[in-house]
Amino acid sequence: MYELLLSAGRIGRLVLPNRVIMGSLHLGFENFPKGAEYLASFYAERAKGRVGLIITGGSAVTPEGASDLQFSRIWDSTESDKFVRITTAVHQAGGRIALQLFHAGRYAREDKTGLQPVAPSAVPTRMSPTLARELREDEVEAIIEAFGRGAALAKEYGFDAVEIMGSEGYLINQFLSPVTNRREDGWGGTFEKRARFGLEVARSVRRCAGEDFPVIFRMSGLDLIPDSTTWEETVRFARLLEENGVDALNIGIGWHESAIPTVQAHVPHAAFAHVAGEIKRAVSIPVVVSNRINRPELANRLLAEGVADFVSMARPFLADPHFVRKVEEGRPESINTCIACNQACLDKTFTHRPVSCLVNPQAGRESLLPVVRTENPMRVAVVGGGPAGMEACRVLALRGHRVTLFEKERSLGGQFRWAGRVPGKGDFVRTIEYYSHELNRLGVDVRLHTAVSGSVLQSFDACVLATGVVPRSVSMPGSDLPHVCYYTDYFEDRAVVGEKVVVIGAGGIALDVALRLTEGKISPEVALFLLEQAVEDVSSISERLRPRRKVTLLRRGRRVAEHVGRTTRWVVLNELARRGVDIRTEIRYKAIVPGGVEIEEKGKSVVLPADSVIIAAGQESNRTLLEELTALGFIRLQIPDAQTWLNGERLEPLVPSLPPVQEGKPLFVIGGANDPEALDAERAILEGTLAGRLI
Ligand code: SF4
Repeated sequence: MYELLLSAGRIGRLVLPNRVIMGSLHLGFENFPKGAEYLASFYAERAKGRVGLIITGGSAVTPEGASDLQFSRIWDSTESDKFVRITTAVHQAGGRIALQLFHAGRYAREDKTGLQPVAPSAVPTRMSPTLARELREDEVEAIIEAFGRGAALAKEYGFDAVEIMGSEGYLINQFLSPVTNRREDGWGGTFEKRARFGLEVARSVRRCAGEDFPVIFRMSGLDLIPDSTTWEETVRFARLLEENGVDALNIGIGWHESAIPTVQAHVPHAAFAHVAGEIKRAVSIPVVVSNRINRPELANRLLAEGVADFVSMARPFLADPHFVRKVEEGRPESINTCIACNQACLDKTFTHRPVSCLVNPQAGRESLLPVVRTENPMRVAVVGGGPAGMEACRVLALRGHRVTLFEKERSLGGQFRWAGRVPGKGDFVRTIEYYSHELNRLGVDVRLHTAVSGSVLQSFDACVLATGVVPRSVSMPGSDLPHVCYYTDYFEDRAVVGEKVVVIGAGGIALDVALRLTEGKISPEVALFLLEQAVEDVSSISERLRPRRKVTLLRRGRRVAEHVGRTTRWVVLNELARRGVDIRTEIRYKAIVPGGVEIEEKGKSVVLPADSVIIAAGQESNRTLLEELTALGFIRLQIPDAQTWLNGERLEPLVPSLPPVQEGKPLFVIGGANDPEALDAERAILEGTLAGRLI
């Protein structure tokens, strides 16, 4: 089924064993004191996972070209030891690795690097607080040489190829686009002059790296910026890159400052793949497709349809370094799928923190969080089959403990089951499937629909409570009226919801509720079918695709969805605005009344009409078993430095240390059961992985 994906391919002289490339990711720990060790472990793990080619995070070709202080530098040989350590580790693991040559241009951050950004022209951007300075002509030429020098060093350090970063709105892209290149000298104006910088960079790299050294160019297939490079210019640029000695084109989509989402969960899978397909038709060198591809069946299909010669995935290799190996071994269902949440990766990149992965907390922490077999196997009970509990079970079982999981519902997943019902979050179900497979494979005794008591747990040697949260109860006049329900009832389809809905709360869960409430009466797939079959005409279909409910979100405070990550929040808020959701902030609740909700807004009393009221106003810990277990001789232990781990500031491996047996049986409380205020899925799964290593 995956013949194409697993077939050998070639980029220049470089033969790859399969068609899968791990795309470039800035990791944010490149210059940590032990950065070389972390990077070597991180990339070697992906090489062991049999990915065809790894492309590193960008390495700056000049000091001004770095976005922040955690960028590797390839402008001189200061970091040679680090690079050699990386290439050696990857080659010893049987892999291949390309270095990405990078210059941020006007996206660089003076507040992080202490250097004023430089660009073709001084055009402001929200990506950087400092206005870039226009480059002099001699400086332009010096940067071109710097790209070449970087390529020569990469070759010297043992890299198998280089990739020139020319997309996503970075320097080369800035030269090509008339929006950011307003020069009137030999480097700006006509298409030929705007394209000149990128082509000179490609020539410089080829000249310095040698005739047969593989060179990939990541070019922008679509800028998604008004008045930017035209499609005709993009295709011409692709052809010119081929003529100037580039061996493969990796197609990027959108600039970081684009107002159109490209990598968020709400973007349909492979939504932009056709762009790579069009470029492939225009050139004869290999083309690489990327963006919102996260499953092997999709990657294989894109190859089968001739869209591209290789498929690049970046975040999916944070989620599962062994993605390709699992496909080779015929068990793709064991892949831990990237759910495009961005919470532990891109949101951290854009806030200058080290990257990891929400569904795989080991990512980026390979040398800090090894899975070590226990010398003292125990019978461990885990209560609660949400993400935190499932991760604890997985790690405990991998370490050799005998694990029993008690889940009171009929299926695993906890809050992820509900997330999977939110439009655009369907991949959350994949996480549940992954854990279900893993727990089954590892022999975890999963007992569903089982509400466990302390007397049953007493027979175990250790216990992990991952019992999650319950909705925070709201007591205001009318909250017991029949048209009022909690978000849990809504997600479980236990409540009939009318056409006009007021949601009390405007945090992340309330936004999910609003997204689900405002789905159209038919899905886009059904709409397409009805159109294709001429069952209905466009106007009737459009009417039924419209949001089916009028929804109002209420918040006492000012900022909605304050804990939703930076890369996702704006997309969700735009989508809710598009669906006509009314968000009212800084209000005071007075009462829920039959047919509405009475609030005070700007000093006036207002009744908002509502057939249904859904309460999504936070949550409280569910740890009803805690007291009983403590009375039965369990001793509650804390996970050390949980926040430090979450921040990526932890620099030393975790060392298990349990109290002497006579003091009590170990008990960890994790996830929402531990702290509902700090509840988020990243923290919950991280606590699961840490608890699994501490017993
Ligand atoms: Fe994917 Fe989320 Fe992990 Fe990032 S944090 S790699 S988006 S699952």
